[in-house]
Amino acid sequence: MNITVVEVQAWLDDFAKKIEENKDYLSLLDTPIGDGDHGNNMSRGVAEYKKSIEDKQPNTISDTFKILAMALISKVGGASGPLYGTAFMNMTKATVGIDVISSYEELSKVIEQGQIGISTRGKAVFGDKTMLDVWIPVVSSIKDKNFNEKIIENAKNATKDLVAKKGRASYVGERAIGHIDPGATSSSYLFETLLNYI
Ligand code: ADP
Ligand code: MG
Repeated sequence: MNITVVEVQAWLDDFAKKIEENKDYLSLLDTPIGDGDHGNNMSRGVAEYKKSIEDKQPNTISDTFKILAMALISKVGGASGPLYGTAFMNMTKATVGIDVISSYEELSKVIEQGQIGISTRGKAVFGDKTMLDVWIPVVSSIKDKNFNEKIIENAKNATKDLVAKKGRASYVGERAIGHIDPGATSSSYLFETLLNYI
């Protein structure tokens, strides 16, 4: 694995594209168990990222994550903005002075710092039907060197049968059962697109 700033920016571009392509679907997922805005929220965030990257032309991994963090915090609104923002801000700190991520061990440390940011900020745990239900298994699988598409897909799909304990979806109680979590789905896009660069 040889993830430099070039690969990180290519990865985040792919993520932005995937959010754009699935914007309506993400908002649709957020309709029965939330307020139907997750796709629009994330789309505003990634559009700001693309604009800001053009303006600032960062040349380190850390500065690239920082631009995404700031874009998500300032433009997303909703619960997901500060949560993703904190994740990427932690990943900014975790990559200061790092020019290349060259092993599963190094990658897992970076992603784990992102996950810790979401956990600390949102106080959710695994199984609460949030984006963490994807981040936590992804961190474990990177550590175990068996990170793959199936793990991401299964983690996302497993949110379908859960009652939500955090966020707006917790207001609908048992009625959340049968619906995949929108934040887990946008996180699945983040990690599916990362697979291309490993
Ligand atoms: P809002 O719920 O404010 O409308 P979004 O619709 O953009 O914000 O995002 C909803 C997503 O945020 C959920 O699907 C869930 O994955 C995630 N989420 C909400 N609360 C938490 C939390 N406390 N911890 C982790 N993720 C959360
Ligand atoms: Mg919402």
